Amino acid sequence: MNIGILALQGAFEEHKKVFESLGVSSKEIRQKKDLSGIDAIVLPGGESTVQGQLLRKLDIFIELKKLIEAGLPTLATCAGAILLAKKIENDPDSHLATLPVTIKRNAYGRQLGSFKSLLDFDDIKDYPAVFIRAPYFTELGQGVQILSQNGSEIVAIKYKNQLAMSFHPEMTNDTRIHKKFLEICGNG
Ligand code: GLN
Repeated sequence: MNIGILALQGAFEEHKKVFESLGVSSKEIRQKKDLSGIDAIVLPGGESTVQGQLLRKLDIFIELKKLIEAGLPTLATCAGAILLAKKIENDPDSHLATLPVTIKRNAYGRQLGSFKSLLDFDDIKDYPAVFIRAPYFTELGQGVQILSQNGSEIVAIKYKNQLAMSFHPEMTNDTRIHKKFLEICGNG
């Protein structure tokens, strides 16, 4: 299995290290041709506006959108989830728009740097979720399944081949979410 990790900006190295620790090879995606031969894609956290601009400028946007719509297993964290959302509540632009949800950027306030919260994620109990200027989901379309809530806020969802979350599973030593993603890739 070869996991593509979008490596334009943000926390891509950290995902690479997690997959390495699980014995799975990955490849950094920096241009359109890197997308060939991958079995899954990771969209990392960072700055969604910058990532969205780079996807267009480097001509990766259309091919990536096609692959995700065609069923390529997709793991999106934080800014990555913003890239997938059909609608961004506090931003007029949307990006890949493959995920029928509304997401709110910097939903915990712009000034709130980061915090940790112990969450249940699907059948995973007590997952130490790291939030950094995080978004959360405010509306879900048909077929979107909630995997995790932080109190009343929806912070992780699954829709077909797309797994998207507000927090950063690559920033803890707990690899259970990456393992779950690999299971999904295997089953898909
Ligand atoms: N606040 C960032 C954005 O709106 C996301 C933060 C992150 O990825 N940690 O794009």
